[in-house]
Amino acid sequence: MNTMSGYLQRSGSSRSNSVVSKPFSSMDPDINHSSTPLRLFVDAKKKVNNIYNEMATHVDESTSFIKGVPEDLGVVSTDVNTKIETFAAQVEGIREVLARDHMKVAFFGRTSNGKSTVVNAMLRDKVLPSGIGHTTDCFLSVEGSETDEAYLQIQDSSERMSIKSVGQLAHALHSERIANHQNTIVHIFWPKSRCHLLQNDVILLDSPGIDVEPNLDEWIDKHCMDADVFVLVSNAESTLMRTEKSFFHKVSERLSKPNIFILNNRWDASAGEEYSEAVKQQHMERDVKFLVEELKVITEQEAEDRVFFVSAKEALITRTPKAPSTPDSSGPLAEGYQARLFAFENFERQFEECISHTAVKTKFEQHAKKGMQIVSCVQGMLDEVHNTASTKRSSCIEKRKDQHDRLEYITQQLKVLSMECKDKIKETAELGETKVSAAMTDEIRKLSTLVDQFDKSFHSDPLVIKIYKEELQKHLESGLGRNLDQRCSGEVMKAVDVVQTEMTDNMSALLPDEVRANIGGMQLRRRFDLSYRLDCQHLFSDFRENVDFQFSLGLTSLMNRFLGPKGTTAAMLGFANVIPRPMPPAGLPPAAATNQDELAVAVMTGLASLTSKTSVGLTLVIGIVWKAVGWRLLAVSGSLYGLVYVYERLTWTNRAKERAFKKQFVSYASEKLQLLVNFTSSNLSHQIQQELSGTYARLCMEIETTKDNLHKEIVALEDESQKLDSIMAKSKVLRNKAGWLDNELGRFMEKYIKEE
Ligand code: GDP
Repeated sequence: MNTMSGYLQRSGSSRSNSVVSKPFSSMDPDINHSSTPLRLFVDAKKKVNNIYNEMATHVDESTSFIKGVPEDLGVVSTDVNTKIETFAAQVEGIREVLARDHMKVAFFGRTSNGKSTVVNAMLRDKVLPSGIGHTTDCFLSVEGSETDEAYLQIQDSSERMSIKSVGQLAHALHSERIANHQNTIVHIFWPKSRCHLLQNDVILLDSPGIDVEPNLDEWIDKHCMDADVFVLVSNAESTLMRTEKSFFHKVSERLSKPNIFILNNRWDASAGEEYSEAVKQQHMERDVKFLVEELKVITEQEAEDRVFFVSAKEALITRTPKAPSTPDSSGPLAEGYQARLFAFENFERQFEECISHTAVKTKFEQHAKKGMQIVSCVQGMLDEVHNTASTKRSSCIEKRKDQHDRLEYITQQLKVLSMECKDKIKETAELGETKVSAAMTDEIRKLSTLVDQFDKSFHSDPLVIKIYKEELQKHLESGLGRNLDQRCSGEVMKAVDVVQTEMTDNMSALLPDEVRANIGGMQLRRRFDLSYRLDCQHLFSDFRENVDFQFSLGLTSLMNRFLGPKGTTAAMLGFANVIPRPMPPAGLPPAAATNQDELAVAVMTGLASLTSKTSVGLTLVIGIVWKAVGWRLLAVSGSLYGLVYVYERLTWTNRAKERAFKKQFVSYASEKLQLLVNFTSSNLSHQIQQELSGTYARLCMEIETTKDNLHKEIVALEDESQKLDSIMAKSKVLRNKAGWLDNELGRFMEKYIKEE
């Protein structure tokens, strides 16, 4: 009712009986946009566009995030890596389609049924030229122009042709350039500000007459597949023609349940006629039958809201604003024009509701569903990345803790084992030292046996003695070495081996399996031989033998026997106190010179004294003895003394000299070797210590390398867990955004698509 009164007010004020052609720029329609059902499409488009803009940002962010995840972390699978790239292209494609999405209404009917007039009436302006003379072979699409300028563009051409008036447009449409483009579309861009349909994204498509050699299939393929509503403009004066019906049959074959409106135009021509109501009823029945029974696109109740009896011409006349100076060229309106105008408005309302709902559903439902699919796929991928990162991070932290504990354990164990090893090394070295010391003392005791075993021929000649001495020294050196080796080495080596094995076993338990397996090949326990280092040649270099004959009852021997060698020397030196000592011969060591030469000098001076200083005393003693025992006893004693001397002199053979030599050598060597006992035993202890310390150091080095590796591994694991942490955080944020987008699309579906 309101619409009717609004309409009547408008039509009253602008009512005119003639169509006036005037410059387009002066037109300024009074349009109420806010209540139009077309807003549904506009709002939905804006909403879905916004969602897709957010989706594009989200997909871009997700793609660069996934591409940025380091490959070596193993968080992103190849599948995810490949798939994510495809989404950006898909979203971009849909955004482009969305930007182009319009509501499209296509007008069909025979030539001069008034298609252009209907379009103009809907646009409330004379946009398209109408009349028999203005028929073209091309499709005319009227769409909104963002600027205030009206212009036209031929399909696939970017050239803009400016239009100032309907006459100019009609002329342009009949120019050769367009006339030659049969079945193409000429896009007429009309300022949006002048028409609410255009403002609300509606495109109106006027077709050539369906009766003029139409290639219906081509028409449908080229222009109808994306149309939301079809309007069949028929002539109320005749029934639906076969070509008109056949066209819609083809359309409904290709499109599922197309929205078809039937406008019985030129109804004004029947105004006042006697049977007009009966004719109207007849038209209505046939049209409904066509839609319901033939095309089967709607129900009978719905069909009655799709068939209208209008006069586009009257609607256009009443709607077109005219300049005050322009003469009224339109004829008078026929009787009952208000009802026809109301029918036209009613058609528009039904059409607007139908087109916006249909367009929202057909155009955005698919986009929303596809968007939901993309969002859920991206969300799934982000979930996968998040979960993988989370699992890897947990195992990373666990591994890091294990390695940390292991490092602590190794450090502690190393301390304990180090102390144990040092104690063991010390113990073994001491054992070796004691063993060698005892064995050497024993060997020194049995030195004469070793010397006696030397069976090279001896001669008192100085040259022979020199060689003999050298060889004896070698014999002694090798013999001693061999004996010590036999007595000590086995046991000492065994002890060393035990400690080495124990050390290696204990310490290598701290090493990783693969290192432990390699330890054998690394020869941590080397083969080593003990060396006793008995340098006898150097040690015995100052040995001076005495193989000269010495009478056992001689004065020196007797004194040696009773006073000992030292006492004798002292006594002899006492005699020689007053006599200046001769210098020791060059080449002899001072100590030896003192012992040997002082003794000889003392004997000589002593003998000299017998004839000088003590001669008086001796003569006196002999006299007393002579008197007491008599000369016979003296003679016997003298003879016996002489016999002993002769005997000893005769038995002083080479053999005896050898024995004397060996005896002197044994006594000398024993004394010297005694000095060597401590040196040799501590040397051996040092060797043991060095050997075991070497093994210990090599094991320590392996453990330190293991500790270093563990430390590096811990640092790397820390770094990895931090990276995984930030991947988790980022994937969580993106996943939440995907969830939000999914909700938005759900809400969009709920509000714009499912509510019907
Ligand atoms: P088209 O070829 O289908 O586009 O038809 P047009 O819109 O060009 O109209 C052809 C002729 O029919 C024009 O002279 C119009 O003025 C006239 N016409 C259109 N609609 C009506 C109407 O409702 N009533 C009357 N009487 N004439 C009309």
